[in-house]
Amino acid sequence: MNMSHRVNQKVTASHLKRQAYCYVRQSTLKQVFQNTESTKRQYALRERAVALGWPVVQIVTIDSDLGETAASVVDRQGFQKLMTEVSMGRVGLVMGLEVSRLARNNADWARLLEICALTDTLILDEEGIYDPTDFNDRLLLNMKGTFSEVELHVLRSRLRGGILSKARRGELKTRLPTGFVYDHNDKIIIDPDKQVQQSIRLFFDIFQRTGAAFATVKAFAKDDVKFPCRLHLGPDKGKIKWQRLTSGRALVILRNPRYAGAYYYGRQRYRKNVDGSTTYFQVPRDEWLVLIKDVHPGYITWAQYEENLHRLRQNAVAYNVWDRKTPPREGPCLLQGLAICGKCGQRMTIRYKYQKKRRVDPVYLCQRYRIERWENSCQYIPGAGIDEAISDLLLESVTPMTLDMALQVQKELENRFNEADKLRKQQVERAEYEANIARRRFMQVDPDNRLVADTLEAEWNEKLRNLQNANDNYETHRQQESEKLKKAQEQEVLKLARDFPAIWKNPRTPVREKKRMIRFLIEDVTMIRGEDITLHVRFKGGATKTLKVPLPLKGWQYNITDPKIVEIVDEFLSDHTYAEIATILDKRGYKSGQGYQIDRNVVKGITHTYKLKTRFARLRATGKLTVDEVANLLCVTVATVRRWGKEGIIKTYPYNDRNGCLYEHPGINSPLMKNDRKRLKTINLIGS
Ligand SMILES: [Zn+2]
Repeated sequence: MNMSHRVNQKVTASHLKRQAYCYVRQSTLKQVFQNTESTKRQYALRERAVALGWPVVQIVTIDSDLGETAASVVDRQGFQKLMTEVSMGRVGLVMGLEVSRLARNNADWARLLEICALTDTLILDEEGIYDPTDFNDRLLLNMKGTFSEVELHVLRSRLRGGILSKARRGELKTRLPTGFVYDHNDKIIIDPDKQVQQSIRLFFDIFQRTGAAFATVKAFAKDDVKFPCRLHLGPDKGKIKWQRLTSGRALVILRNPRYAGAYYYGRQRYRKNVDGSTTYFQVPRDEWLVLIKDVHPGYITWAQYEENLHRLRQNAVAYNVWDRKTPPREGPCLLQGLAICGKCGQRMTIRYKYQKKRRVDPVYLCQRYRIERWENSCQYIPGAGIDEAISDLLLESVTPMTLDMALQVQKELENRFNEADKLRKQQVERAEYEANIARRRFMQVDPDNRLVADTLEAEWNEKLRNLQNANDNYETHRQQESEKLKKAQEQEVLKLARDFPAIWKNPRTPVREKKRMIRFLIEDVTMIRGEDITLHVRFKGGATKTLKVPLPLKGWQYNITDPKIVEIVDEFLSDHTYAEIATILDKRGYKSGQGYQIDRNVVKGITHTYKLKTRFARLRATGKLTVDEVANLLCVTVATVRRWGKEGIIKTYPYNDRNGCLYEHPGINSPLMKNDRKRLKTINLIGS
């Protein structure tokens, strides 16, 4: 009676003249159907308003958010309409669920309440009616909000505490690595799948033997043995997929204490970054929250696990991230970090090959798969001519097209800005997404379960605050960056246009500086080795250019240009070995281009390059036989044939300088054949 008297005191004729707004928070159509309870609660507020004296026609239900998925309160049309109406003094009463909590945790609602105070608008929720102009009521609204936060805090720490104490007992279920499963009693057992078991045992055996993760991967690859992996996501969740073992996977398995039957928890921590992203990192073992040894069967013992880790540390496996663009380093190769394999699209690595007389030749290698899975190297491209070609290309294209190029660089800078901007925008989108999820969770909870509802409500509001922060952050950055961009653009473009050719040609410009410039101009260079090397150069800003560079000549090729020599080699190959021909050429006074004596390898090189028929092929063409063929023909051992060759019983023809030779056909009437028939007869007689 007293209460209703006080309530009625708050409601004045001036309030009743104005509209009563019922704000219904519902989002998706699905929720409207699923969560009718909450809807009922909200519509019940209308009845209260009627009871307080508002005519039904004056009660407006703002539920235009129904069936809409708006990311934040800010862009909810319904809320904004409510705000407008209140600020224009047309509203006498605002009704809604959980208003006190909203007022405390949500900036938009706090503002709404302030406006309510200014325009003398009453607030009604399930627990009562408040007059925001009244000090006591404002205090009450505030207190209720504070209580809900305390509740939330207690609830959270209880939850976390529960998880931790479960983990300390080793009872918290965590995701098991491949090779283990939970049985019906939630006990951890070794995967009953024999094939999975064997693969993992084999893995540890091989590592035991070889002591290196890479060698283990190699062994699996060589025998083409696939490795099991239990899928944790997707439609085939829980199934085993057989795939190639990679070095990364091998390291993960070796470092996982589960395989030694140990339970662990809290091996990983995370840190929120300023930009809202999360970084996960592993902490050293003594900082793990829980580590209990020997809680379930394992594949190896704890001692073995320790031993394995020790070996890994010793190996210091250079598990590099190969596809990362590496920063410019010393070393003469200009395209370091920019070369991409034209066959498989991986980034190529560079190796320097030290030649005689301290000339250093770069070699571009595509070997990522070699390192990861022990497959063959994909491409091997000698890079001697490539730097020159790129250098020429740059000088040629930058000088006449400097302006054009500069503009493209500018465009590139803009692109980069846009990319960064896109990334930052994604942060905002993620915050929106999270807010959305939190809202949906809140909407779906059973309203009678107040503790959970409050938690979710608070969570939602927190997400909305995060969203606001992300938005502000985004705007500030955007402005700062675009200022920076303008300045950087002007400077870089001017500098490049003016200075490039001069700096480039200056022999005192360090290679490192040149590489830096190249990175500014070139995005990447795709290389394909064929008859010659094809280079697809992709400039920053999108322009492309294709170059052909001949495969570099081998050492001896620089030396010999005289076609006379080739003629001589061709002539003598029928009757002489490479070494003999080299001697002949030497005697006739021929020298290599650099004045060196011609040797066997030079002759061999000429033969291959000019595609001359090899001595072996020539001998075969005239019907000469190999040692095996002769042995077969005469029914004697290979050793006998060789001996007869040496003794001159069969005529031999050397085809190389390492005693390799072919044999004259003994002929069908050869005494050797007859001799042999006799011998065979003798053996037959003895046998019978
Ligand atoms: Zn490749």
